Order: sequence, then C-alpha cells, then structure tokens
Amino acid sequence: DPAAGGPVTSDALQVLHRVFGYDSFRGDQQEIIEHVAGGGDALVLMPTGGGKSLCYQIPALVRQGTGVVISPLIALMQDQVDALRAVGVRAGFLNSTQDLDERRLVEAEFLAGELDLLYLAPERLRVESTLSLLDRGTIALFAIDEAHCVAQWGHDFRPDYLALSALHERWPAVPRIALTATATRATHTEIASRLGLQDARHFVASFDRPNIQYRIVPKNEPKRQLLELLRTEHPGDAGIVYCLSRASVEKTAAFLVEKGIPALPYHAGLDAATRAAHQSRFLREDGLVMVATIAFGMGIDKPDVRFVAHLDLPKSVEGYYQETGRAGRDGLPSTAWLAYGLQDVVQQRKMINGNAEGDEAHRRRLTAHLEAMLALCETVECRRVQLLNYFGQSGEPCGNCDTCLTPPAAWDGTVPAQKLLSTVVRLKRERNQRFGAGQIIDILLGKKTAKVIQFDHDALSVFGIGTELGEAEWRGVVRQLLAAGLLAVEGEYSTLVLTEASGEVLRGERKVMLRRDPEKPARAAKATKP
Ligand code: ADP
Ligand code: ZN
Repeated sequence: DPAAGGPVTSDALQVLHRVFGYDSFRGDQQEIIEHVAGGGDALVLMPTGGGKSLCYQIPALVRQGTGVVISPLIALMQDQVDALRAVGVRAGFLNSTQDLDERRLVEAEFLAGELDLLYLAPERLRVESTLSLLDRGTIALFAIDEAHCVAQWGHDFRPDYLALSALHERWPAVPRIALTATATRATHTEIASRLGLQDARHFVASFDRPNIQYRIVPKNEPKRQLLELLRTEHPGDAGIVYCLSRASVEKTAAFLVEKGIPALPYHAGLDAATRAAHQSRFLREDGLVMVATIAFGMGIDKPDVRFVAHLDLPKSVEGYYQETGRAGRDGLPSTAWLAYGLQDVVQQRKMINGNAEGDEAHRRRLTAHLEAMLALCETVECRRVQLLNYFGQSGEPCGNCDTCLTPPAAWDGTVPAQKLLSTVVRLKRERNQRFGAGQIIDILLGKKTAKVIQFDHDALSVFGIGTELGEAEWRGVVRQLLAAGLLAVEGEYSTLVLTEASGEVLRGERKVMLRRDPEKPARAAKATKP
C-alpha cells in the first residue's frame, strides 16, 4: 500500500517504475530500500535471483551523492555499468582493467557529482588515493556486494574484504548495506562482526527455491547418465553442467556435441576472448548447454536455465546451493541434478589432506564443509529441508526432491560394515602394500583377479565373505562409511584406513544404518509448478 509509506516510499516506487520499468517490489525489497534510503545500515541475505541489486541501486538514486558499490566481480563491472547506463543511470567503475585515462575520467565524473553509482574492486580501497578521492566527493551509501567474501569461515574468502571495516570508521555517517546470497548462521555472524554491522537491520529472505527439483543420484557412468537426463527431461533446454577439472569440462562438452547436444566449454584455462564469447552465446542463444568449472556463473543473470547438473561433488553446501541456484530464476520448474560416487569422497578427502599450504584450522574448515555436503548426499530425508536447515531455516518435506518423490530405504549395514573394516585391518598388516577400495571389494566378493593372486589375498580368512552384496552395493557401503567418518583415505594411492570410530563398529558397539541406493534411480516425476 503505497499510501502508507512516506516520501521515501513514493520516491523509491517512482524510480522502480520510471527507471527500471517494474510494477512492484519483490519480497523485502521495499523495506530494505526504505531503511537504507533513510540512512540505516542493513545486512541482506537473499538467494541468487532474489533481486539484491535494486536494494542498493534505488537508495543510491534516491539519496544525494554517489552510491559506492564494492564488488569482487571485476569481469562483470563493464556489463553492469552498461546495463545501468542503458536505462539512464549514471554509473561508472574503477578497477585494474582500466588504463589511466579511463580512470581519470571516472574520477572526474565522481568529483563533479555526475555519478549515481560507482563500482569499485575491493583492492582499490587499499590505495590511499582512492580513499582521498572518496573524501572529496559525496557518498550516498556504501554497498558491499558478495559480502560473504569477508568471512574466513566461508568458501570464498578474499583478504581485501577485511579492509572494508575501515569504511565505517572513515565515513561514519554514510549508510552501509552488505548483501550476500550465501550465509549459514556462522557466516552471517562473521559478516556482521567483521564489517561492524551488529547494529544494522538484518533482512533474511527465505532460501527456499520451490521450483527447483533437487536430485542426487549414485554415479555410475556419469556422461551417459547426464545424456539420458538431457535427452529425456531437458531436450532443447539451456543448462549448466559443472565439472571439477578443466579436462573433464573439455571431455564432457565434446561428448555432448558428438551426441548432438549443443554444448560449450568454459574454464579458467581458456583465453579471455573464448570465455567471453562462450558466455555471451550462452546468454543470448536458446538451448545451449554450458559445461564449466565453478569459474562460470557468478553474477550470471539468465532467467531460463532449466537445469544445473553436477558431475562432481561440490566442496560445500554453500557452493552447491549457489550453483544450483542459477537454475530457474524465472520461477519455472527446473532441475538440480548431482551424480555422486565413492571416487568423489576419496578424491576430496585426499585433496584436503594434501593441502600443504593451508594450516590445520583451514583443513578442519574444509573437512566440515565436505562433511555437510556428504550429509546432504546421504540423507534419507527431504533434501530441501536439509538444505534449509543448513542455512538456519526450517521447512516441511517438499514433495519436489528425489527423497520425497521416491523415499530411499534405510537398511542395517552393521554386518557388511564389519566385514569391510575387518578386511581393511587384514590388509594393514601387510606393511609395504597399500590397497584402495577396488582390491578390498574384490577380496570380499571372492574374485581371483591377477592382483588378488599376486598378493595371496585369496588365502585371507575374509576372502569371499561378502557375496551377499554386489559390487555396486559394496561401493555404496564404502562411500557411506567414508562419508560417515567410519573409514578414511590416506596417501597417494588412496589407501583405505580405519578411524577411531571404526573400532566401535568392529567391536559391535555401534550400529551402522545405510541408505539403499536405488538400483536404477527412478526418474523423478515431472516437476510441478510451485
Ligand atoms: P541477485 O543479485 O539477488 O541475484 P538481481 O538483482 O540480479 O538478483 O535480480 C535478479 C533479476 O530479477 C534481475 O533480472 C532483475 O532485473 C529482476 N528483478 C529484481 N527486482 C525485481 C522486481 N521488483 N520486479 C521485477 N523484476 C525484478
Ligand atoms: Zn523434498
């Protein structure tokens, strides 16, 4: 009800109509805009696509002076500024990609009061000349975009962000608004304390994306599984496929093209011109599939991405949420699909252990992130509820995720777990030899492979004691024990080793409940409109 608001409301609404061409505010936008336009500080947690930009752009237009926007996304600044200029907003940016003349021009515009918005890379603020430039102009507000970059606990820490606490000390009267799409309770608290925003008003939007159907399937033949998903459920749709390595990006893109699906690769190993060309084709053309590392996507605003597929396990729930959040920004049914297997767990545990430069605290953080991600993969409960809980929010079983649509059975895996752990114990006695999951499963199944015979493993008492399960099931057991910390990997060859908790299982003090992987994961029912 616009009549209820004061002059700020009517100004803000006018700007919304006149400049941006939208009818009404979404979610908390109006409240946030009024608060900041009125001089208050704000911390805004809103999922990707929620409409964070207007929350600082409109107050900047309503208030006197220039809104200064701190953003780490240097590659997007030109596009953002072009888009604003196209609707008549006087915007500019300062970052390391510019030459001196370009910089001088923007500085002059700022000093002359001819800019509504000035985008700054965070490292600019470490330069005294930038600070004194800001002193000489009029600042309407500071907007700190991607504010989770200040949190060391988070997954995207940037040291330059730590310096942003100085903004308030130098310009105490200028309102600040910090915005992020990723914030667990821990990150949220850390942002507030590091940026000195304890007294700011917090606006926390729901992180639920009801139109996204979450599915996590056991990984068997990932490329073929992906192809089936695209052919049966998303023919002709635009989507993003995330892979961990540049090599698998290239291979997967080539595979899709060979199968007649228009796909483009994107990773940091491609030159800037190729990356830019692929990105702009993805944005402008219909039905392209972008196969990419996580280098792709931050700040990409393509409304009709119908699916986001992960061929490798994301390193954190925040990352998973942010990447899958690029699907369905138009609100129409979309799929978030992840193929996940034993090798993912082995590989990521190995990467964390081999992370030489990080200190112990850093390793612990990475492990905690991975474990939360594994818990999401192995849950027998609603994925959406689990995701929301992770972000400190609650929800009801959604009916639009794989575990709701085809509830997985849980089974008592204590005996198989004991058999497997006993085999690990037997092999440990062989000092110089180190064996991974493959050898252990062959022994349990009683397979006389060359490697089994070479090491006399057919003579072990555990040889052939696990024929009640098939190979895929055993891999599921290993994966889940690794996920639960009842088994660990070590060294160059990903040798399986016991953990402290394994002893409890071996001694029969602890029951192991496992999730039964669907044999052929039933394709979930068609997504329903929210
Ligand atoms: P975020 O930064 O939270 O990911 P954006 O600010 O980029 O989201 O907004 C996402 C999309 O929604 C943009 O295309 C934007 O123009 C659009 N949008 C934002 N607010 C509104 C609104 N009130 N009405 C209509 N569209 C909006
Ligand atoms: Zn659900």
